[in-house]
Amino acid sequence: MTSQADSTLAIGESLAAARQRLTQALAAAGRPAESARLLAVSKTKPSALMRDAWHHGQRDFGENYVQEALDKQHQLADLEDIVWHFIGPLQSNKTRDVAEHFDWVHSVDREKIARRLNDQRPATLDKLNICLQVNISNEVSKSGVSLEALPELVERVLEMPNLCLRGLMAIPAPSSTLAEQREPFARLNHTLMSLQERFPEASLDTLSMGMTSDLEAAVLEGATLVRLGTAIFGERD
Ligand SMILES: *Cc1c(COP(=O)(O)O)cnc(C)c1O
Repeated sequence: MTSQADSTLAIGESLAAARQRLTQALAAAGRPAESARLLAVSKTKPSALMRDAWHHGQRDFGENYVQEALDKQHQLADLEDIVWHFIGPLQSNKTRDVAEHFDWVHSVDREKIARRLNDQRPATLDKLNICLQVNISNEVSKSGVSLEALPELVERVLEMPNLCLRGLMAIPAPSSTLAEQREPFARLNHTLMSLQERFPEASLDTLSMGMTSDLEAAVLEGATLVRLGTAIFGERD
């Protein structure tokens, strides 16, 4: 049986290893040490492990399922400076919960969802940080706005007063070589740069890309927020 102390130790070690991996990837890319940060993806993992990670200095957490996230937020309500990111597919009937209880949403891919989040964001809270999810390698999954439709969606979201558009997110189709992994990330990076030129007044500073299997490729192509689940919390069932 694993004791509480053992799991704290285990999370401390895996988190340290994940930070080390990010530090090395940034160095290999010739980038400044603090130019990307870790988002700990905690879907399906118990809140006790998240609390351990928090005690080891982790603040940003990513969740995919609204009800699971709300339950964990309740259990972790005493951790005041925790930052909640919603990264999963978002249906219209769940936007109110997300608008009321998260700091970031990475998975906005259509105007209707953005508008609902904007309209439902409580006036008492800061603007909701948004990344637009882009279908960068024509994934089998239907999530993500196409590159063709992206500029129009950016214009619409920039008009929404309760949202702060921060950048782009993608989940490329899996590939095994570093060169193949880099390709879609490079495309996303170039897309963000062209949006920065076209909308210089916007706060477009975020590339949410890279997971346990492709962190190095994402960092080489400019990721600023890497979303690590397995590397921190272990395999999911
Ligand atoms: C689950 C998930 C992750 C983390 O994946 P790992 O391979 O476990 O690191 C990252 N991003 C999204 C959108 C996810 O759903």
